[in-house]
Amino acid sequence: MTRPVISDTLQPFRIEGANIRGRVTRLSTSYESILGTHAYPEPVARILGETIALTAAISTSIKFDGIFYLQTQGDGPIPMLVADVTSAGQMRGYARYNDEVFTGGLEINHPVPDLLGAGHLAFTLDQGAHTDRYQGIVALEGNTIAECAQSYFQQSEQLDTAIIVAAQPVADDFPPRAAIIMIQKMPGEDRLILTTDEEDENWQNATILLNSVTSEELLDPRLSLDELLYRLFHEKGVRLYDKKEISYHCRCSREKVAETLASFSTEDLTDMKTEAGEITATCEFCHKVYSFNDADLDEIRDHQSPGSSTA
Ligand SMILES: [Zn+2]
Repeated sequence: MTRPVISDTLQPFRIEGANIRGRVTRLSTSYESILGTHAYPEPVARILGETIALTAAISTSIKFDGIFYLQTQGDGPIPMLVADVTSAGQMRGYARYNDEVFTGGLEINHPVPDLLGAGHLAFTLDQGAHTDRYQGIVALEGNTIAECAQSYFQQSEQLDTAIIVAAQPVADDFPPRAAIIMIQKMPGEDRLILTTDEEDENWQNATILLNSVTSEELLDPRLSLDELLYRLFHEKGVRLYDKKEISYHCRCSREKVAETLASFSTEDLTDMKTEAGEITATCEFCHKVYSFNDADLDEIRDHQSPGSSTA
């Protein structure tokens, strides 16, 4: 049997005759790259996969030019989950976790309360220095990351949303993959004129169909995304829009680390030095290590703005 290609593309769609739009994607290469050298415990890798799939789906439902961030903060064994994606589809992500909790074997019945604990989920849109940063925050209320996102859309945007998300972090017959299918009532323009009853019926039917999708189907590369959509919504019909590529890319660079170091005082920089006299910084996303010796630090200091050093 030839191995199906999992192409990391996101398919936007619309259900015909209804004011409902959606997104479906199955990420493999990008998910594997994000898992990278981190050696995450399986439950951490799974919820991180769900989070990157969610980030990809939500980011493509917004018109923007810049970076979309999704971040959770909580008091559970995973205090922080971060994923971000550029408008060009370049994505990265990581999880901060308490290793001891997982080596002890953790029983997980409800991923969000058991893994993330109490806290919040934030969406941030950064479109550059001269624009306002948009931020939306919702409490981590829900058993899954999908339920938390649904309640965000309900509470903050008044947009009915239904999401099925799944991740398989360990290679089985196929490489690791994370997948999502999401439908949402359409806001604003391009809406058909329908009665409230028709709107309600459309939404009810669409969510019933969506909820019939199992994690296995969503993650099965032998079932193409087009086939999956057809199977679910063939009765009304599905309109497919241009696919979008999602790829892994970490935006860290030596220049950016140097910029951050330049904001510290000379005293702080001295305190940060290792015994070898260097400052090292590791990117939390890709684990790349950047080191700076005295000559590098002198150069950074020369470029420091007058206001940023303490007298
Ligand atoms: Zn990096």
